[in-house]
Amino acid sequence: MASLLDLVDDLDGVGPKRVQALNKLGIYTIDDLLGYYPMRYNDLAMKTPAETQDGEKVTFKGVITSPPVVNRFGYKKTRISFRLTVEHDTIMVSFFNQPWVGKNLELGQEVAVHGTYDKTRQGMSGIKLMSRNGDDEMEAVYPSSKEIKAKTIKDLIIQALGKYGELLRTDIVPAYLRTRYKLMNHHDTVFGMHAPTDGQVANEARRSASFEEFFVFQMRLQVIKSMDRDNRGRSINFNNDELKAFIATLPFELTDAQKRVVNEIVRDMRRPIHMNRLLQGDVGSGKTVVAALAMYAAITAGMQATLMAPTEILAQQHAKTIGNFFDPDKVRVELLTGSTKTAARRQILEDVANGEVDILIGTHALIQPDIAFRNLGLAVIDEQHRFGVQQRATLREIGMNPDILAMTATPIPRTLAITAYGEMDVSIIDQLPAGRKQIKTYWLRSNEMEKTIAFIRSQLQEGAQAYVVTPLIEESETLDVQNAEAVYAELSEYFAPTYRVGLLHGRLSNQEKEDVMAAFKANEFQVLVSTTVIEVGVDVPNSTVMLILDADRFGLSQLHQLRGRVGRGSRQSYTFLISDPKTQYGIDRMEAMVATTDGFVLAQKDLELRGAGDILGNRQSGVPEFRVGDPIADLAMMTVAQEEAIEIVAKPDWDKDPELAPLADMLSETMARYRDFD
Ligand code: ADP
Ligand code: MG
Repeated sequence: MASLLDLVDDLDGVGPKRVQALNKLGIYTIDDLLGYYPMRYNDLAMKTPAETQDGEKVTFKGVITSPPVVNRFGYKKTRISFRLTVEHDTIMVSFFNQPWVGKNLELGQEVAVHGTYDKTRQGMSGIKLMSRNGDDEMEAVYPSSKEIKAKTIKDLIIQALGKYGELLRTDIVPAYLRTRYKLMNHHDTVFGMHAPTDGQVANEARRSASFEEFFVFQMRLQVIKSMDRDNRGRSINFNNDELKAFIATLPFELTDAQKRVVNEIVRDMRRPIHMNRLLQGDVGSGKTVVAALAMYAAITAGMQATLMAPTEILAQQHAKTIGNFFDPDKVRVELLTGSTKTAARRQILEDVANGEVDILIGTHALIQPDIAFRNLGLAVIDEQHRFGVQQRATLREIGMNPDILAMTATPIPRTLAITAYGEMDVSIIDQLPAGRKQIKTYWLRSNEMEKTIAFIRSQLQEGAQAYVVTPLIEESETLDVQNAEAVYAELSEYFAPTYRVGLLHGRLSNQEKEDVMAAFKANEFQVLVSTTVIEVGVDVPNSTVMLILDADRFGLSQLHQLRGRVGRGSRQSYTFLISDPKTQYGIDRMEAMVATTDGFVLAQKDLELRGAGDILGNRQSGVPEFRVGDPIADLAMMTVAQEEAIEIVAKPDWDKDPELAPLADMLSETMARYRDFD
């Protein structure tokens, strides 16, 4: 019996080579093929020759006014030609090498011909003879590959629609939603996408297909969210008095925004649900102390906490900063990274297992099967947009089920947040600590380098420090390093003997990196020349200058991160972007950096400059790609899909509702994965 799960191999004209080409496009089954929607349609709108430009692709509808003639030349070459009278004009139409076109043509017949118009010769080179006298004005155009042509894909889809089209009767989107939002059923959607009879049908089909896609996506997030929260809930009963007492020992007053998010987080930890929360805050907004407070809350409940950072430098810095917040007699903080020696590692793991270590800090690679906490209450993940499903699964596999707090300084534009973080709760620090001065940003040409270096000297004279970031040379770490070394040599000479210069790059061992950072923090040298290893999170409040060479080689979010290394103390800070951009895109980025220091505004700008595709395609963003819908352009629809999904999941036993059965069926794997962990 025919089924949508039949392999495409079963279609006529599909041999092993085509199967391979289709598989490469992610098409295995008939269902996959029918879900391979066109990217656009060629508009085959009717015109008259008088209205048509030379070389334009058009469709003429007219009457054949000379008997069609078939010429053959050479081997396999044919031409079919006839006169076509379109209103008051008569043109000559020729079809080359499409002998089948001639089969049913005769004098006096009404036809529509799509092709390229040659105005001087009053002729048309035919591309397509329209069926049904030009009723179908829309020609679907498919994304293709080197191995398979768009036309072949189109023909296979038409074949599949004929053979399997009637099986498309399962509706994922329930009838009440289709009525509410005027959507087509699944069958009509698929037909409307591939073979629309007119533009309106194509639009409605696309709306319906987008909604279906968004709805399934949001349902999955809501199912994950609700099962995650309810099924593995656990209350972390922290001691509020102890937490308050600890806050009083901090070297600074928390900002109102920090107080608010700490409240949101600890309240969530106390609730008998599983926390999956994202902490967003621009660079320098003070996320680390918030993380320390959340971890301390877990400790007052008799539990342990862990913090994972993306790089060793950051893990080391966090261990230091967070260690300094606490009285070592009361809270034991340990650092575990790839460079921790075997013996030390064994000891730390043992103490983690018996509960003597309260806070374990390390790189993301920390989650390893050989780690066992005695009682892990909270896992903080720094500088990562989301904590991946995979990592969460690993945690669970090794028997840990902590509340999760993910922190990010790379804001996702608000227009994307609903898609990126749909299954998480979000806390936002929307305020910088008091006394911070706005960082002044200047874009300079490379011939202004000297005066910039002179400016750095004046800053050093006032006791400040400076970063110099060398250009990113794509795909060549060696060149990156050579470059940094050259700049280092020049600046060392320039500043000697009064000031010292340090060098940091990816080729240094972890111990060396740590030593360089520690020395810079201790002001043992005043200028740090670095490749982008310095990019995220590093905190040396005495630095007031960030000089970025060939700044146009960096993306906006990277530039923003780099700039965030200064302006962390009370002094006026400066960022100099040295660049001579050759493209408008480069100029736009420099201007955006000068125009604002607000990470959210820059993220939005980045989105506009690069387009959603690039941001969505960026692995880091955590935003999935959609086949039909555009989560930014169709934000309103995405919002509606989320609201409806929340409403459905809130109903007990929604998955028993017959109308929602196909949807529940589709999500059953996701649900099973969560049930299994109970
Ligand atoms: P980020 O959010 O970029 O991770 P950090 O947590 O590294 O920022 O904090 C940046 C700097 O601001 C650090 O030096 C930190 O000690 C300081 N800081 C954090 N909160 C406050 C505050 N409320 N008042 C003054 N300084 C603060
Ligand atoms: Mg940070």
